[in-house]
Amino acid sequence: MRGMSYLVLARKYRPKTFQQLVGQSHVVQALTNALRSQRLHHAYLFTGTRGVGKTTVSRILAKSLNCETGITDQPCGVCAACTEIDAGRFVDYTELDAASNRGVDEVQQLLEQAVYKPVQGRFKVFMIDEVHMLSNTAFNAMLKTLEEPPEYLKFVLATTDPHKVPVTVLSRCLQFNLRPMAPETIVEHLQLVLGDEQIASDTQALRLIARAARGSMRDALSLTDQAIAFGNGQLQEPTVRDMLGSVDRSHVFSFIQALAQADGLSVVNTCEALRQLGLSASSLLEEMSMVLQRMAVFQAVPNLADTAADPDPDAQRMVQLAQLMPADETQLLYSLCLHGRAELGLAPDEYAALSMVLLRLLAFKPQDAVPGAAEKKTLKTLEAPPVAVAMQAPPTAPTAPTALTPTTVPTPTAAPTAPSPVASPAPTALGNTWFEVVQELVKAQLIQAMTRELAMQTQLISQDGSTWVFQCERESLNSANNRERLQLALQALGHAVQISVQNGPVHDTPAKRITTRNDERQAAAEAVIMNDPYVQHLLQDFDGKIVPGSIKPLTL
Ligand SMILES: [Zn+2]
Repeated sequence: MRGMSYLVLARKYRPKTFQQLVGQSHVVQALTNALRSQRLHHAYLFTGTRGVGKTTVSRILAKSLNCETGITDQPCGVCAACTEIDAGRFVDYTELDAASNRGVDEVQQLLEQAVYKPVQGRFKVFMIDEVHMLSNTAFNAMLKTLEEPPEYLKFVLATTDPHKVPVTVLSRCLQFNLRPMAPETIVEHLQLVLGDEQIASDTQALRLIARAARGSMRDALSLTDQAIAFGNGQLQEPTVRDMLGSVDRSHVFSFIQALAQADGLSVVNTCEALRQLGLSASSLLEEMSMVLQRMAVFQAVPNLADTAADPDPDAQRMVQLAQLMPADETQLLYSLCLHGRAELGLAPDEYAALSMVLLRLLAFKPQDAVPGAAEKKTLKTLEAPPVAVAMQAPPTAPTAPTALTPTTVPTPTAAPTAPSPVASPAPTALGNTWFEVVQELVKAQLIQAMTRELAMQTQLISQDGSTWVFQCERESLNSANNRERLQLALQALGHAVQISVQNGPVHDTPAKRITTRNDERQAAAEAVIMNDPYVQHLLQDFDGKIVPGSIKPLTL
């Protein structure tokens, strides 16, 4: 049973007429018009990726020219010419695969046949597939016949790579580009075929197959055959996923949500769950980039987020996620996923590598994307360097085509060097004392607003018995009111002191100490980031630059 169903559909549902040809209406219309009006060209070139139907169109054209009912856009399919062409044994229809017959001898043999009139049909049709593979001498040999063909001879050339076909040949052909089929077109066709075959299927299963077929109906039908065998006569999403090794989108959605919310713990846990399930990290990243691409489209063109009309049942979820994650982060994550796939193979542990790729987004999270969340959650859950960084990268990586047009011009910059640590002012013993006292005052919420400012901006210069003498540069802070409140606060903390504040220069105040400490942390944070090999790779390969001031220590 399994053996029987394999490949059956691809053969059985190979289109035999122009009307059955799916997703190529522009080619069909041009050819049927030409056939109806008998405007026949002597050479046709069909281009397009593999599996889009170039040979199929060629056979239908051969039948149209040779059908016993006359030259027609609707060959009868039952006459000797039609049936023999379909069966591949019509004497006047010859298919030559240039990929395996690229020499001049094979072409010469074919062309020698050209001098003889058709035996059975109206026309001799020479179909040369992958014509770009022919050697130059073979092309030259063909060119003579192509320039002055006998009336009864038609050439049908097909290629996946028209750029490699000499212009002299191209210029003598009527050219048609067969398009890769849209996944929706493939799904619709598969539904018709499976309806005919009375095979139960769910739409998500067909969508998976359509995507895996990458535009080729032939591949889609072959995959469907395999999936039927795999699923014991049924097409259900879980078995198709299993067969294709693709990852359940719910995992993808949890990852994206966790990343949008800067929830590192959740990312790590989901990676672990994938490991338990034995799912492919590479498929996950591929699926993620597809979802991110849709999200980017929804972000750029909100009108498209009409989920009621969207045939993808996951569209609504993707629209929600698109609102959770800022556009620049979506772009960055897309790049990280694409590049991360290449990296998986290098790592000793695929899942550890996967979590590294995803956690990188948290390390590179554009600043203020999720106010507060990045700092808190990253700090709480990750053993990553305690820094958050905004990377300014162009919206698309050089190797990553997306549906979006880049709107910013990348700024090529040399990797900035980390600033040298800021020299600290000489700390004083009284400065230590005052810094500790102020921290206690703040913690106990005894000083607020301008009183707190006065405390922060003053330097303790002497402790004379119960009188503490301060110096302050900012005269405006040194008001009687502020001094009184500060004194009350100190007394409330148990320091029975009188304070006196003079105006004058300061170098060791609590405020200056905090600035210095932050500068040192900043320098350390920047050094960690700048020394990270992946950051250097991003800077070089993506023409990225660190947004000035975007590196923030997380532990203030
Ligand atoms: Zn016929």
